[in-house]
Amino acid sequence: MTRAILTLNSGSSSLKLGLFGEDLETLAMGHVDRIGRREAAMKIRDAAGRDLPMPETAPAAFATNGAALKTALEVFEADFPGLEVVAVGHRVVHGGVKHAAPVRLTEALMKELAQLAPFAPLHQPHNLAGVRAAVDAFPGVPNIACFDTAFHRNHPFVNDTFALPRSYYEKGVRRYGFHGLSYDYIAGELAASDPALHAGRVVVAHLGSGASMCGLRGGQSIASSMGFSALDGLPMGTRTGQLDPGVLLYLMDQEGMSSHDITELLYKKSGLLGMSGVSNDMRTLEQSDNPHAAEAIDYFTFRIRRELGALAAALGGLDALVFCGGIGENSATIRARVCEGMEWIGIAVDDAKNAAHARHIGAGKVEVMVIPTNEEIVIARAAKAFLDA
Ligand code: ADP
Repeated sequence: MTRAILTLNSGSSSLKLGLFGEDLETLAMGHVDRIGRREAAMKIRDAAGRDLPMPETAPAAFATNGAALKTALEVFEADFPGLEVVAVGHRVVHGGVKHAAPVRLTEALMKELAQLAPFAPLHQPHNLAGVRAAVDAFPGVPNIACFDTAFHRNHPFVNDTFALPRSYYEKGVRRYGFHGLSYDYIAGELAASDPALHAGRVVVAHLGSGASMCGLRGGQSIASSMGFSALDGLPMGTRTGQLDPGVLLYLMDQEGMSSHDITELLYKKSGLLGMSGVSNDMRTLEQSDNPHAAEAIDYFTFRIRRELGALAAALGGLDALVFCGGIGENSATIRARVCEGMEWIGIAVDDAKNAAHARHIGAGKVEVMVIPTNEEIVIARAAKAFLDA
């Protein structure tokens, strides 16, 4: 018998799963991509990094997130006979104004969170569909919601508001910030490994397909590059990042674009993909000799430097810069490009350490670090805390 905590990150066409033992040891990690399509694919690895054998499946096995969850569970059960899931932790993008910590999900809370869907229409409904799938699959087992926004809820007012009439702030039109589970993990890692830095002023750059930056003081989020939505701040794989709102007025009034068309443009066709016309994938861009790919990388790294300056101002200085996320953890080129010309703020990179992806890669008075993030373990810890309470 294996008692386990399951973590779920349920997206529009993907499902990420983590399976942890009662002492939070990793048992397996998996993901299902392109759910609902013929080409849906699942991959599950055990703690040793071994790919678990996949069953022969019909397309129906991945028709919905619920079906994908059932199919993944069969693989887990084959590897861990007598598997008993005792709690499920969920990544939920939006906790609104109220939630600054994980919560146990109830029917009433599900209704409340569903009302936040207009704030995150591309994520919240899919996250909640994942919760429904887990409730069906594990009757009676506690489900814990962990919010991407929660870590940022204590921002000072100036980092929480827009200069709109006050009534919009009251309605919830605020700067929420996202990627909170990742920043929470990095803050915890710093507290354990470098307590003096943790107590200081740290900027974390989470650079993945989605990308954002966060200013931490004493391990608390003070400001974030993402705002009301996960569109703001840095350019991303397919998202614009910061955009003059006048552009939206132009698109509507002069080009006659609908809100649906604009949503597609801003979320799916812009960013590295839109700028380069080549790919949303940083590895492909780094290898491309297309000048537009080089320009997209220039823009990406420039905006990171610009945001770094802004966050250092919000923090009143800078003691450390931490890179994480798929790009931040794996691309020595991007890290070097971001740090280029930043000596004025105390940042320099040791090329050999950077190339070796060492934890400390700085050569100036500001520490520069690479810390692989782990959002799943943050969710699993929250679920365990509810079990232990
Ligand atoms: P997600 O936000 O979907 O979790 P990830 O954090 O996995 O995304 O980051 C995906 C990004 O990381 C992609 O742009 C990918 O190209 C990039 N990436 C992964 N490995 C490397 C690498 N070795 N060099 C450059 N970019 C990389």
